[in-house]
Amino acid sequence: AFDGTLTRDWMHRFADSVYATEAELTALDQRVGDGDFGNNLTAGVRAAQRLLDAQGEGSGPSATLGFMATAFLDEIGGTSGPLFGLLFQALSRAASGDGLTAAGLAEGAEQGLAAIRRVGDAAPGDKTLVDALTPAAAALRASEGTPPGRALARAAEAAWQGVHDTAGLSARMGRASYLGERVTGIPDPGAVGVALFFASAAGPVH
Ligand code: ADP
Ligand code: MG
Ligand code: MG
Repeated sequence: AFDGTLTRDWMHRFADSVYATEAELTALDQRVGDGDFGNNLTAGVRAAQRLLDAQGEGSGPSATLGFMATAFLDEIGGTSGPLFGLLFQALSRAASGDGLTAAGLAEGAEQGLAAIRRVGDAAPGDKTLVDALTPAAAALRASEGTPPGRALARAAEAAWQGVHDTAGLSARMGRASYLGERVTGIPDPGAVGVALFFASAAGPVH
């Protein structure tokens, strides 16, 4: 299982990959939205890193993901801030005393997805981050019983496929829906953010 150190390392790698892709995320949201997604996600991981650093080395996986949730739920604007916060909150709740197992990750991703869908009302195919999180959660569930690193690598692969699929979709939710067919061919930035999150579990993503 992922212990506190592995979970913290994962969160810091996620932050690094967000900083490294901020310009691309901004460019994507300029094409399908209002251009602030790179800034929103960067602000979220920066706020989370401040909380994690203030906490030092002692926190376990549940507390670590709880700081991520707090940062995104309380401090970050945009539609994506609270939605990412709900994912982190569900993952935090699914981490047991032993740490994060593949089964716990599956549970957390499924509960996070359910909460995101309740709040945002997006279904698969609407060209949102739901299109990356849905296959990622399914991949985690299919990987139950395997080491969490392997489960997360499969989740990342599934999420990137979901990102790829969003490029073929016109949007039904969020700002991209105002642009209709004009956003077809462009992947959804929020979905890219979700894929970066799972991909960061394995190592640096640049
Ligand atoms: P805003 O549109 O408020 O500027 P952000 O730029 O922070 O929001 O985030 C945009 C991302 O949020 C989109 O790329 C999409 O993945 C996600 N999103 C937007 N609306 C929804 C929704 N109703 N449900 C799920 N995800 C959504
Ligand atoms: Mg935006
Ligand atoms: Mg905005």
